[in-house]
Amino acid sequence: MEIIVPACIAIAAPVTSKEAAIRLAGELLVKAGYIAAPYVESFLKREAVSNTFLGSGVAIPHGMIEDRHHVLGTGIAVVQVPQGVRWKDDNAARLVVAIAAQSDEHIAILRRLTRLMQQEGAIEALATTSEPGRIISALTDTPFVPAAQAAPWPADASLELSLDYPNGLHARPATQWVETARRHACDIRVIKDNDAADAKALTALLGLGITRGSRIVLAARGAGAELAVKDLAETVTRLSAEELADAERARVAAAQAKANAPTWRPQGAARLQQGVSASPGLAVGKLVRHENHVLEVVDTSRGAIAEGEALEAALGKVAVELAALEAETRERLGAGEAAIFAAQRELLADPGLMRAAIGEIMRGHGAAWAWKKILSARVDQQRQLQDALLAARALDLQDAGERVLATLLGLERRAVLLREPSILIAEDLTPSDTLQLDMRYVVGLAISSGGPTSHTAILARTLGLPALVAAGPSLLALSAGQEAVIDGNAGCLYLKCSPADLESARLAVRAYTARRDAMRATRDQPAVTPDGHRVGVFANVANARQAAEAVEAGAEGVGLMRTEFLFLERDTAPGEDEQYIVYRDTIAALAGRPLIIRTLDIGGDKQVSYLDLPKEENPFLGVRGARLLLARPELLHTQLRALYRAAAHGPLQIMFPMITDLAEVEMLRAECELVRKQLGAPAVPLGIMVEVPAVAVMADRFAKVVDFFSIGTNDLTQYVLAMDRQHPQLAAQADPLHPAVLALIGMTARAANAAGIHAGVCGGLAGDPLGARILTGLGVHELSMSAQDVAAVKTAIRAEPLSAMQALAERALAAGSAAEVRAL
Ligand code: PEP
Ligand code: MG
Repeated sequence: MEIIVPACIAIAAPVTSKEAAIRLAGELLVKAGYIAAPYVESFLKREAVSNTFLGSGVAIPHGMIEDRHHVLGTGIAVVQVPQGVRWKDDNAARLVVAIAAQSDEHIAILRRLTRLMQQEGAIEALATTSEPGRIISALTDTPFVPAAQAAPWPADASLELSLDYPNGLHARPATQWVETARRHACDIRVIKDNDAADAKALTALLGLGITRGSRIVLAARGAGAELAVKDLAETVTRLSAEELADAERARVAAAQAKANAPTWRPQGAARLQQGVSASPGLAVGKLVRHENHVLEVVDTSRGAIAEGEALEAALGKVAVELAALEAETRERLGAGEAAIFAAQRELLADPGLMRAAIGEIMRGHGAAWAWKKILSARVDQQRQLQDALLAARALDLQDAGERVLATLLGLERRAVLLREPSILIAEDLTPSDTLQLDMRYVVGLAISSGGPTSHTAILARTLGLPALVAAGPSLLALSAGQEAVIDGNAGCLYLKCSPADLESARLAVRAYTARRDAMRATRDQPAVTPDGHRVGVFANVANARQAAEAVEAGAEGVGLMRTEFLFLERDTAPGEDEQYIVYRDTIAALAGRPLIIRTLDIGGDKQVSYLDLPKEENPFLGVRGARLLLARPELLHTQLRALYRAAAHGPLQIMFPMITDLAEVEMLRAECELVRKQLGAPAVPLGIMVEVPAVAVMADRFAKVVDFFSIGTNDLTQYVLAMDRQHPQLAAQADPLHPAVLALIGMTARAANAAGIHAGVCGGLAGDPLGARILTGLGVHELSMSAQDVAAVKTAIRAEPLSAMQALAERALAAGSAAEVRAL
């Protein structure tokens, strides 16, 4: 069902009161089958309790949540009143956009409305047009084609279908449509209404504005037309299951976050600044304006060669910076968030950008000036794109591009200085800005532009920061320094609250933080189930500083110290002494607590230029981890010497990554023994990562030759499911809770228990409270995770007897899919 149809648009409606306008809109929605008649009263009920005037002549009447059962399908009616009808106070509404929403599909419409309000003359045009199609086009981002101009596209083969993707056709599935279409030489079009888009062009496809329920025609012309249509139709339907599953997962996650966030409403009068919810939560703070600094550039050139070199060096430096930020974000927040910076690196790698900038440099301009000019042009161009998701990526280009500019100018990008709980208001925040926020003081984000799918919104959700977006330009006019309440669930700011309301909001926040704090307060206590089963909870770290932070967060030690970071971002490999100092300092930071250090795991996603490794077609299946160490004995030898020297200072266990064969273990053990004897060092436990399925399957045999197992669910999942762990389209499916992955973990734990050695998990699944419970039920005794997850995992383990977790694990093993496991 389309969200908006011509029959629901009343042009130049002869209404003179707000109530008449609302009743007319309601009637249109009833007639078109979107709502049952009682919902019209619900519109009026809402007006009595809140103001639905959005600004700039637009009002958005909508019903009460408790009456939602009268909504039969999400739909919108627009009553155009060119002369205006009085709404609240002295505001006149010229476009009355009545919304009947089953869930939150109306957010897209709201976002478009707020965007239109920011475009000069856009609302005026809609308030006076005589063509309903123009209003539909503006509200749904579909190109407006006057009926007379549309000519049918002559096709040799065609097929009509209705799209059931819950989020309509967005960039991810559209990319796959394009890929399919490009496999065929003939001309292929996707047609919606009167508009035909080239199926091989992503932006054209997105420009069609295909939403859930849209009827589309797949058409092809030329040799092989029939096959092309069939192939494309197959792709379209194949993706539908994925899209439905994705939407469901997002819905569950959002519902959980919302359910956990505190609820609050002001009792007295307050001024409301409405936006769109981007991240749930409640907070009270002073408004602080975050200014987007404009980097000033003076155009001076030291000659084309020097300027070209400067630009190249800056791009190289930023690529390294972004890789580091990606690694740090992966550790701090997760792979999905880290992908933001991988994408930024991609954007900068576009040779077209560099070429265009060099062109300017050749014309005598300085590198910084040239880069700024090309960057702004590209950012503007991207912003103009019809598709909101694609347009939002303009901010990423700007973010990455400004890093290059700042590097060229030798400037540091600095964050605002804060001293008290603050709600930042900004026109927009880049992902880098968001990650730089001083989390001691920032309690909320209010953004005038953007959308809930922007990268900043994603980061805010992960950081647990209440946020709203698309609040419109009036947000920026709010005077800084005043106290406000931000409600991330409702996507609004309450201003000028009474002292009593401010106090009650603070109380609600406090009660919520008390719950969280209770979790923190017990973070140093062991994770013991009510029936007395203890699980070790450890942290994953990369250096001594993080080890100290992990202890502070409640970790009982370090279950995985990744040593790759020592080798990244430099020109030569770290020597024995340098490594020794790092390992020794980490042992010291842990003050006697257990520490597992993993030898170098280079290859796969982590590449090091100075090692001159041959380029591989499939680096994840190539010479990676232990395979590389065995092929490059000098690397292994140096690292083992440093490790055995450090072992004199405290407990240390050595672990090898990416093991596949028993023979590898034998060779590595022999090498360890050799080094140990040379140094007269103490013996240390030697363990392996279980991340290749072969090892899990043969865990009983490996258990006889190693001292412990640590299961790497990140890699195990990618190898079991044959899904690249970094693949953006597969990220949602590559779920470690897949029953096949769990079965291999269960086998590994059983083999370890039978042999009397420890089996731990150090992949991402260990830090997920549900995952931790299932892993415990499967017989895993030690979990190692990001320090930030320690307290929550301990709380989850303490909440339930072992027998319940075992029963849960049984049910998970018997499930048919990861989604079923998540639903348990
Ligand atoms: C894993 O694969 O689960 C793991 C912990 O190692 P890494 O993420 O470093 O590959
Ligand atoms: Mg791994």
